[in-house]
Amino acid sequence: MSSRPPTIPLQQQPPKLEQPPIKMCPCGQFPDGLLIEMPERAKYGRAMGSCCGDWSVEFRNNYTQDPQETLTRASKAWNDAPRAPESDVFPPEPAAPPSAEPETSH
Ligand SMILES: [Zn+2]
Repeated sequence: MSSRPPTIPLQQQPPKLEQPPIKMCPCGQFPDGLLIEMPERAKYGRAMGSCCGDWSVEFRNNYTQDPQETLTRASKAWNDAPRAPESDVFPPEPAAPPSAEPETSH
């Protein structure tokens, strides 16, 4: 008696990535998904909300080649990013420039 596993025909379509649930964007909208910037051979990528593209979080991709894994990591970083209460959302402040001390000429 031979038991063969049932053969499932592979569908000729690109694998659909599953977008994990993501939180509201600081801009006040719920993004349909995340736009992911993933430079080749980079350890870190960047994810932006599809709503405005103004807000982005950096996430650690850790060289994974799996797009689903990248999306999952990006979504987690997005959800974990600190947000101000919805009533008061300010854009992040730019990093303060190094304090230039007045030069004392001698
Ligand atoms: Zn947004």
